[in-house]
Amino acid sequence: MDWNTIEHKWIRRWEEQKLFQADPDGREKYFVTVAYPYPNSPQHIGHGRTYTLADAHARYMRMKGFNVLFPMGFHYTGTPILGMSRRVAAGDTELMDTFHKIYKLSDEVISTFVEPVKIASYFHNEIKMGMREMGYSIDWRREFTTIDRMYSKFISWQFRTLQKKGFIVQGSHPVGWCPRDQNPVSQHDTMGDVEPDFNEYTVIKFRSGDNILPAATLRPETLFGVTNMWVKPDAEYVQVRVDGENWIVSKEAARKLEFLNHKVEVIKTIKGKEVVGQFATNPINNSLVPVYPASFVEADSGTGIVMSVPAHAPYDYQALEDLKNDKKSQSEFGISVIASPIIIIESEGFAGVPAGEAIEKVGATGQNDTKLEKATSDLYSHEYYKGKMMNNTGRFAGMPVTNAKNEVKQEILISGVATTMYELVTKPVKCRCGAECVVKLLTDQWFLDYGNKEWKGLAHECATKMNIVPQDIRQEFDYVIDWLRERACARKSGLGTKLPWDQEWIIESLSDSVIYMAYYIISKYVNGKAISDDNITDEFFDYVLLGLGSAEQVAKNCKVSYPTVEQIRKEFSYFYPVDSRHSGRDLVPNHLTFFIFNHVAIFNIENWPQQIVVNGSVLMEGKKMSKSLGNIIPLRAAIKEHGADTIRLAMLVSAEILQDADFSFDTVKSIRSKLLGLFELADKCSKSQSTEWQLEDRWLASRLQRAIVGSAGSMERLRVREVIHNILYSLDQDLQWYLKRVDSKGRGNVTGTLAEFLEVQVRLLAPFAPFTAEEVWERMGNTQSVTITGWPKVREDRIDLVAEESEFLISNLLADLQNIVKVTKITPAKITIYTSAAWKAQIYKKIISITLEGKTNFGEIMKQLIADPATAKAKTDPKIVQKMMEDILSAPLEARNRRLQLLEFDEAVAIHDAASLLSAEINKAEIVVFTEEDPEKTDPKSKAISARPFKPAVYME
Ligand SMILES: [Zn+2]
Repeated sequence: MDWNTIEHKWIRRWEEQKLFQADPDGREKYFVTVAYPYPNSPQHIGHGRTYTLADAHARYMRMKGFNVLFPMGFHYTGTPILGMSRRVAAGDTELMDTFHKIYKLSDEVISTFVEPVKIASYFHNEIKMGMREMGYSIDWRREFTTIDRMYSKFISWQFRTLQKKGFIVQGSHPVGWCPRDQNPVSQHDTMGDVEPDFNEYTVIKFRSGDNILPAATLRPETLFGVTNMWVKPDAEYVQVRVDGENWIVSKEAARKLEFLNHKVEVIKTIKGKEVVGQFATNPINNSLVPVYPASFVEADSGTGIVMSVPAHAPYDYQALEDLKNDKKSQSEFGISVIASPIIIIESEGFAGVPAGEAIEKVGATGQNDTKLEKATSDLYSHEYYKGKMMNNTGRFAGMPVTNAKNEVKQEILISGVATTMYELVTKPVKCRCGAECVVKLLTDQWFLDYGNKEWKGLAHECATKMNIVPQDIRQEFDYVIDWLRERACARKSGLGTKLPWDQEWIIESLSDSVIYMAYYIISKYVNGKAISDDNITDEFFDYVLLGLGSAEQVAKNCKVSYPTVEQIRKEFSYFYPVDSRHSGRDLVPNHLTFFIFNHVAIFNIENWPQQIVVNGSVLMEGKKMSKSLGNIIPLRAAIKEHGADTIRLAMLVSAEILQDADFSFDTVKSIRSKLLGLFELADKCSKSQSTEWQLEDRWLASRLQRAIVGSAGSMERLRVREVIHNILYSLDQDLQWYLKRVDSKGRGNVTGTLAEFLEVQVRLLAPFAPFTAEEVWERMGNTQSVTITGWPKVREDRIDLVAEESEFLISNLLADLQNIVKVTKITPAKITIYTSAAWKAQIYKKIISITLEGKTNFGEIMKQLIADPATAKAKTDPKIVQKMMEDILSAPLEARNRRLQLLEFDEAVAIHDAASLLSAEINKAEIVVFTEEDPEKTDPKSKAISARPFKPAVYME
């Protein structure tokens, strides 16, 4: 099968038919968007999942009859492309390796990359071709880049609107920072896409002679329990003037303090061991504490000087224990008495020294044991939530730690014996330019004030009203909305739009990508040359996006024709709000939440987004994809080799939405053979004639209706793994069973039934494997695209409980017979099957109704049966009643409900119908059927009395 040829044929056909171009019409609309790509690399298998899911969703809604808009743009904004072009210019060997070996770029192409925009446009084109080849049903008339002039006008309007509403503030705030680029950094700018998150530490000034030994801590309330200080003896420290005071800190800390706007002047470098042995004064109670040596101290963490609280900090406790046993250090530094822990917090669950007990729990040995990490965080959160300050903490005695933490901090900050510093939570964070990021306190920077309470309130309101798929992720949004603070929204360099009121700044990439879904309406008119950006002012956007002002004025002032202005406004009102926004899970804490914030700030409530869909990432054969593992496969190469549909299905079938999908080539192979099966079936039933309608035809038709209902139900929650599994695997099993039945009966022409089956299966599959669906659809003799034909409608008249129960009964019976043969090792020549007596059916149904009410106590069930004259016969054979109850409880719920609904069901009819199959499967034995009540039956071993409804008795000879 030449998949690529088929793919190109349909890509061309769809474009000729303008199948995915969406303009307002009389139908209900559905607007699907997915995060536009950042074109600094070709897309690989890992990128494909989010886009493929969004496309399958768009195609599904289209087939359901909605007028679906699914557009795509390209995000050029920011510094990563600049950084990359600089690395190209510098001949960075790692980057060149990636270009040559993974992306397979020629030197000629690479040489153009010294110009940043060339990088963007090259990969833009590459990604676009990949998207077409994947069969994404995109309305390409609306394509744009974020450095287009009209887009910049749109973003300027967004920012002026936010500023007017008071959501943009200027001030000093800490930000993640690249010292080389002199620019704030966020997730998009870092290697490995790490958000540079930071903690605020309290720095407590311990006085030691003329110097200050500043200790950074996250637990200022433990200051009362300090017994000593820690310094790393062989690390380099510096004596520095900090804002007029003499501090001793690690060399790394001095640099960090500069970024936090302290005036720092290095006087001299010293070794840590020079400080060991000195004494320092605890500012909260003036106690004198010694400075000890410790190897766990990290020079680049905090100030490099640690206050030791051995009662509540496992590292401190362990280092003291280590020091007790380290006679060499004791004599080297003249330490004669080792301090003992001072307990200052009580909490349930701890009787002795809490840190000591926490260490015992994790089983750590020695201060460099990584298990101390867990002991520390466990004890920290336990004491934070459950701890109370003890009597030795002055005015804080009796206070819960939750409060004391802030109160102590406020007190020491106000009295000037402490200050604050910021520190990255995880280190190191590398900028894409290669430099290590720091925290910088930026002054005069522009911030989006996500800390604004009123704004948060609106964002919560929107998130609450919105549908979030999957539901489990909803609380993550609430958490992020609460947690977000001011966020730097502009940079000094990079591609993008200048801040309208301060031209030194460029709006950064996570701020100019939050309401652009609205711009897809406008871009169609820009690309179609119906409007030009020359005279466009805010008035234009106010009118078409918010309905403010008048079309006449806008037409006049912006030099756009009046009908065009009206048409754009109408089109926006038609397609907005966004019905479904798709993105990867890693964008929940930034992009997706900013998307909510900015929509509620700018748009009227009726245009707030309706749904967010979040999916997990993709693993390659169980492993994370990474350049170092060499398992990154560019999407276009994969399409060429395996075909787009197999890749689409392999991405979607391996996991439900939030889990990581595991892409594997075994799955690719298995899917390909399933798809080939569809082509074979299509050839079989291309000349279909109506089939003589028998039990198995009725059954297959009924199963198809169930598949339509089930798939639509799963698609409501975008459980695509389930849907694809049903369509490709469960339906295929049904087909195999059907063919077996047909074969055993020796039926000739069943192409009518097969055609009906394939017709439904192909339409169900179309959103996920569009190329195969179209091609098979055409081979079946259809001339209209399967997209237009639409999602199959359920035919209620084809749902056939009798047929469903019959085949279920037969397949269970067959399994029972095979089992008997296996266990008894009989090779039967004749099998006699006894169906149960009518009175048992009465009892059976009654038991189902009782158990469906949730009652499963045998005694109670017996009582109810005996009380009813219709089922009173139960008392004659409690054993069989017990067995029936067991049968019922082990049957699928679906089967129980069906059996209750079936008024009359003659098992003998079904068994007779399948006698040829049973015989064919079991030794070509003769099949004989009796009912238990038949006086003429042969029953040499008295098997008949053990027959139960849907569980006939069997005698083999
Ligand atoms: Zn950088």
